[in-house]
Amino acid sequence: MSIHWWDSRCVGERAIRKLPVRTPRLVRGAALLLATTLLLLPNAAAQRTQLKPGWNMFSPQQDVELGKKAALDAAKQLPLCNAPKVDAYLTQLGMRLASKLPAGGVQYPFEFHCVNDKAINAFALPGGYVFINRGVIESADNEAQLAAVMAHELSHVALRHGTNQATKAQAAQGFLGIASGIFGGSTGGALLTELGAFAAGGVLLRYSRTAESQADVMGTQVLYDAGYDPRAMAQFFEKLEAETKGKNPPEFLSDHPNPEHRVGRVDEEIERLGGIPANAKRDSAEFEAIKREVLALPVVKKPVPGVANAATPPPPPSSNFATYEANSYTIKYPDNWKKYPDSNGGGVSFAPEGGVLDDGSGHAALAYGLIIGVAQIQGDPKDSNALENGTRQVLQDLQKSNPKMKIQRQGERVRLNAKPGLSTYLINDSPAGGLETDWIITVLRPEGLYSFICVAPQSAYSNYDKTFSSILDSVRFKK
Ligand SMILES: [Zn+2]
Repeated sequence: MSIHWWDSRCVGERAIRKLPVRTPRLVRGAALLLATTLLLLPNAAAQRTQLKPGWNMFSPQQDVELGKKAALDAAKQLPLCNAPKVDAYLTQLGMRLASKLPAGGVQYPFEFHCVNDKAINAFALPGGYVFINRGVIESADNEAQLAAVMAHELSHVALRHGTNQATKAQAAQGFLGIASGIFGGSTGGALLTELGAFAAGGVLLRYSRTAESQADVMGTQVLYDAGYDPRAMAQFFEKLEAETKGKNPPEFLSDHPNPEHRVGRVDEEIERLGGIPANAKRDSAEFEAIKREVLALPVVKKPVPGVANAATPPPPPSSNFATYEANSYTIKYPDNWKKYPDSNGGGVSFAPEGGVLDDGSGHAALAYGLIIGVAQIQGDPKDSNALENGTRQVLQDLQKSNPKMKIQRQGERVRLNAKPGLSTYLINDSPAGGLETDWIITVLRPEGLYSFICVAPQSAYSNYDKTFSSILDSVRFKK
């Protein structure tokens, strides 16, 4: 079961792209217009979208401390390119882009690393530690497209999306009071573990749509201010989309869902900036040389860090249970399972050691365990049609990111903590090999449609059946 689906959205519609190329404004009657121009200046400046970091209980200094530790961890676990020329090029390009971030961005000690991974992906840790897969460089048509991905990542840093999401996730779990106590110190142990998990398996810091859109907009501004053709941002996404029609999306699209109007929003920002500069930079001889060097790097068959080898099945589920308390419900799970937080939409996963595997394309996928999600689907909890329609929608979403998934047994009426629910069984390819059974219980609540998804390979399902039932029996909705 791919656990990317909480954040996966259908790839946005293609905007029809007609953008004016900016022509130099003629200066006529300069003296006469001076007063008016001065009056207009604040207006002109206001046209550019102004973005500021959101609510955050961490200080920027803590972003650096946390990011630095997680980056050390990531550098240990990820296969790096070990190509000094490539890193130097990325650093020089990255610093040039970072210098165009709004004032908040310049305080970070940026670092740029090339990762020897052909998956098209990049990520930035709080404090400015940016990791760019060779796949991004190899698939970019020109320097502007690589700069676009980097500008997008740098914007996540400047807007402090990592610790902002962590702040919101902690608050959503009702841990804010405790959390500020824990994270008040300089170590930030708990969060560091989560950031480490993110760096390793990509399970945390799945940014919200809003955060992604903000990074697109600020990234577009950075590209523009650095003299690049700002259309490269949308072009890179469109290119990926076109290249992957009908296939699993590359990581950059699944980690960076393409919400509706994403391309349109970039185009809108370009218009706000005054159109495409007439002499915008697209490529450089240096980029082409670096791209050739990267293409020639040896391919590392990477073990996905933090992700177990499918040959070793997890230990059997413990019969002792731990309690997880979310904002709106509590649930018990075997105490030898680990919680994988998901900051987006309040979802959370529980899996045994060795329960999260590489799905073969570098994605972390849950092979054994439980995934809980809340979809923003409204409806009267007592209306069984609303529950059925909502469930259908959730299943369709799941099938989008798990194309082999088939319904084995249609929804049957059940009760979960005395609330009406639907129980559906699905078959899917297991990341552990062979087939898996996915047992899904959906319940409609005022805050949305809950899905409790129990996952195990078919061959091992009978060892998990009882545990899954005990877990589901333990669910208590608050009010
Ligand atoms: Zn992003």
